[in-house]
Amino acid sequence: MTDNRKPKIILTGDRPTGRLHIGHYVGSLRNRVALQNSGEYDRIFIMIADAQALTDNADNPEKVRQNIIEVALDYISCGLDPEKSTLFIQSQVSELTELDFFYQNLVTVQRLQRNPTVKAEIQMRGFSESTAETDTKAGLPVGFFCYPISQAADITAFNATTVPAGEDQKPMIEQTREIVRKFNSTYGETLVEPEILLPDNSACLRLPGTDGKAKMSKSLGNCIYLSDSEDEIRAKVKGMYTDPTHLQVSDPGHVENNPVFTYLDAFCRDEHFEKFGGCFQGRKASFEFHNLDEVKAQYRAGGLGDVMIKNFLFEVINDTLKPIRERRRELEKNIPYVYDVLRKGSEEARAVAAGTLAAVKRSMRINYFDAGVLEELIKEQTEKYK
Ligand code: ATP
Ligand code: MG
Repeated sequence: MTDNRKPKIILTGDRPTGRLHIGHYVGSLRNRVALQNSGEYDRIFIMIADAQALTDNADNPEKVRQNIIEVALDYISCGLDPEKSTLFIQSQVSELTELDFFYQNLVTVQRLQRNPTVKAEIQMRGFSESTAETDTKAGLPVGFFCYPISQAADITAFNATTVPAGEDQKPMIEQTREIVRKFNSTYGETLVEPEILLPDNSACLRLPGTDGKAKMSKSLGNCIYLSDSEDEIRAKVKGMYTDPTHLQVSDPGHVENNPVFTYLDAFCRDEHFEKFGGCFQGRKASFEFHNLDEVKAQYRAGGLGDVMIKNFLFEVINDTLKPIRERRRELEKNIPYVYDVLRKGSEEARAVAAGTLAAVKRSMRINYFDAGVLEELIKEQTEKYK
């Protein structure tokens, strides 16, 4: 019996602009590990997007270079298993840039300008249209503006069906789907249309920063890193932005747009109350909660102080990060192994991307020197000049 099922393939990744944080974890990493271990996927490619990181860090390649190993250490510590998933470095797969080059002709500048994530990122980085034409620090680098097209190359090169990512990636996947449809309708059915896989918990779609800003982001410095020590996590949680109207413990509080509660929504499970319920026992007041809904109700009613909630949040986050941190410490002693994983993964990825590039060139009929094609071409052109 032949299996006609379309292979299920994952491609996703991260920019090596810093160590990974809990936003990455709940937005994408946790999902990737679960999907990897579900055994439902035929292949899983996890890319360290160094070339994409250079689009807004051209003057600082060292930062990108240093962070490749940080991201790889975070990956493996979180449970990505090099035996089951191919971990690779984007710049080592040069086929991706060739695909990008062909896809650029299928996208208009106007369409790119409409991409809401790119728009927000341009603003966040302070790139402005009015600055000196040669200043790539202040002006908008062409490569950065076009990175959604390069991302389409990354996804399609591996025939990915599924991209587990945070909400900010939605416009990127939509752009990729448009490129696939345009390519296939122009040159014939060749590329696979991917789907984004968002976390099903809405708190995880776009985890806010510890400062209350809309997104935890390496570039904003408002992160709790997966590799942070217990003391660092405790200090960051303690300093977190909460409800600014909750001035006295007795005041009614708001849980909406309160990052402390968003983090609890993202990390807390009922068993955490059995484990860390003691955090709600103070000298002045004590509470017994069994689930997060009860905590929220009390916070809204007033009488529950931020300190108690933050103590509990620290325990909950630390409970998740402790085993990751411990695996990382072990792995840090074996750096040659990590580079070996990346080298082998990049070789494997390259072979797959080369297959897609060959198919793309075949469909576009720019495979002039392929076996059999050259003979046909010579015949055709000789006829023309007869
Ligand atoms: P940079 O600031 O350099 O862009 P970043 O922190 O935004 O870094 P990326 O490498 O751009 O991280 O994102 C990698 C993946 O993590 C993407 O799938 C993205 O959707 C997800 N992600 C990043 N930040 C968050 C967040 N705060 N909440 C949920 N998912 C996130
Ligand atoms: Mg980003």
